[in-house]
Amino acid sequence: MDRRQFLQAAGAGALAATTGCASITGSSKPQVVVIGGGYGGATAAKYVRMWSEGSIDVTIVEPNPNFISCPLSNLVLGGSKQIADLTTSYDALVRHHGIKLLRDTATHIDPEKRTVTLQSGQTLSYDRLIVSPGVEFLWDELPGMKAPGAQTKILHAWKAGIQTVALRLQLESMPDGGVYAMTIPPQPYRCPPGPYERACQIAHYFSVHKPKSKVLLLDANEDVTSKGPLFKKIWKERYSGIIEYRPSFRTVDIDAGSSTAISELGDKVHADVLNVIPPQRAGAIAFDAGLANINKR
Ligand SMILES: Cc1cc2nc3c(=O)[nH]c(=O)nc-3n(C[C@H](O)[C@H](O)[C@H](O)COP(=O)(O)OP(=O)(O)OC[C@H]3O[C@@H](n4cnc5c(N)ncnc54)[C@H](O)[C@@H]3O)c2cc1C
Repeated sequence: MDRRQFLQAAGAGALAATTGCASITGSSKPQVVVIGGGYGGATAAKYVRMWSEGSIDVTIVEPNPNFISCPLSNLVLGGSKQIADLTTSYDALVRHHGIKLLRDTATHIDPEKRTVTLQSGQTLSYDRLIVSPGVEFLWDELPGMKAPGAQTKILHAWKAGIQTVALRLQLESMPDGGVYAMTIPPQPYRCPPGPYERACQIAHYFSVHKPKSKVLLLDANEDVTSKGPLFKKIWKERYSGIIEYRPSFRTVDIDAGSSTAISELGDKVHADVLNVIPPQRAGAIAFDAGLANINKR
């Protein structure tokens, strides 16, 4: 669907809609609701609003108070950026583009009635719905991560924010000569080059500040999943003796107490700082057609 078709469809949907729910804005304009204010949702919201020249009301539902750029978060781990450098207020979307922002979480979609129910209990009606909740983590595949306290000790930092800062603090506290290990899930996962890029950032930090320390990559995949020759060249030329790459190490459990990753073959790897990037899939939101699965994050 191109831009013109989307705008026409949203307008036509508004004329045909007989949902019986009041629009959030109280206006008679077509209503577009966007679930998620990340890169996908915020960008879509902005352009629907701009291209319609204000003739479509756009509402973003997002629980976080600010936008934090995930792609730049590895720079925080490497120490060259602070989390504040990655953080942007949603104010510009509200003030400059006239987008309505609701700090809430969508829990249920009814495609028949064209409504979205929020955690607060509020119900929004829409003519067109954009669903962009990012990824959710499949913790069931790493049972030890569901033990009490496990997820506050063993971090993923695969969504930028509080975990990014906490992992950076773990790295700063690690003594020189320690081992930082990262488990990489089988494909598909968000941002295939991200783990290898993270390894470079942390290895750079170690090379300057903790030269006896190691970065150990425990990769469930048979080989580097993206830009392999490039990463391997850099690891050899710049981080030889710091980065160790172990392919086909499929992590099936974590012992959070001892910071140990356990592979499907029973190998156990202890690390001073263990960073677990869990298996993942597109975020789920319950909807009326069945497949009840409240978004678990
Ligand atoms: C370490 C790392 C490095 C990366 N580097 C790059 C890079 O260099 N280049 C690149 O292109 N990509 C990169 N990526 C990938 C990039 O971050 C993602 O592709 C991008 O963030 C996806 O945007 P999104 O809007 O789909 O999801 P997200 O950015 O995750 O946004 C989803 C939003 O939806 C909200 N949400 C979730 N559920 C609900 C709900 N039920 N109700 C309301 N809101 C909800 C969340 O709070 C979140 O704000 C990287 C990712 C990581 C982890």
